[in-house]
Amino acid sequence: MAVKKQHEIEEVVAKTIRKYKLLFKREKILVACSGGKDSTTLLYILKKLGYNVEAITLDPSIKNSSRENLDNLKCFCNKNMIKLHIVSFKQEIGYTLDDIKKELDSKGITMAYCTICGILKRYLLNKKAKELKAEKLATGHNLDDEAESVMMNLLRGNIGLMARLGPIAGVVKSRGFIPRVKPLYLCNEKEIIAYSKLKKFPVVYKRCPYASSSYREIVRNELIGFEKKYPKTKENIINWFLRILPELKKSFKRDEEMTYCNICKEPSQRTICNVCTILEKLENKKI
Ligand code: SF4
Ligand SMILES: [Zn+2]
Repeated sequence: MAVKKQHEIEEVVAKTIRKYKLLFKREKILVACSGGKDSTTLLYILKKLGYNVEAITLDPSIKNSSRENLDNLKCFCNKNMIKLHIVSFKQEIGYTLDDIKKELDSKGITMAYCTICGILKRYLLNKKAKELKAEKLATGHNLDDEAESVMMNLLRGNIGLMARLGPIAGVVKSRGFIPRVKPLYLCNEKEIIAYSKLKKFPVVYKRCPYASSSYREIVRNELIGFEKKYPKTKENIINWFLRILPELKKSFKRDEEMTYCNICKEPSQRTICNVCTILEKLENKKI
């Protein structure tokens, strides 16, 4: 895959935003930042393109990882005069990611780190975005991430979950959900690494210590192997997916009636949302 030059990446992001109507200049946009290369690149490019951005980061307090990312992000936002909102798992729900995993394990409940982390991050991001009156949430998912997600859902037979992917996430429009968009959708990982190195962003390139045990990592490694043998594999997956996506979203829209969690009142497809279910398990309550 040919690596794009600096200005070409910025143009691809601008074109992606225009093509899929992801963002508008008048909107307040919260960029979900991890302190890593993708979200830092996204934050920088959106600000450069003149969007009204603020950064939000969720701190799961992962040992030997979260602190470094948080310090880097603070330094980047300071330098670029971007407002940063820090939301810690511990403060919001009373537990760090490690606490939750340990507690669930001790009760014999098997749940992967990434599953717990993903559920909490989606929930807290949406809740905080509403509190901060943001109109859009932008995430740093790139082409490689999306190709992995498409394949993961395909291999697991989760077609309904696949329908929620795409440059604009989700199939249901609801007042309870802040729309989540992915302006780096058509940029590949190599290009983003090259761009962030060229710009000397303060980011670490190592992956989260828990990533290696995830199903995503298995699919990711397989796709890397395929891409080496058959260049453009990931691009082809995304091109195919974008062609079927409108129909996919249409067909799953009918099934997705939005309701609200009986406990926290946040949007949920079940009477009790995933976060409240985890909390009830931790606190040994019957639900
Ligand atoms: S790799 Fe998994 S545990 Fe680590 S930050 Fe991502 S979702 Fe959370
Ligand atoms: Zn709930």
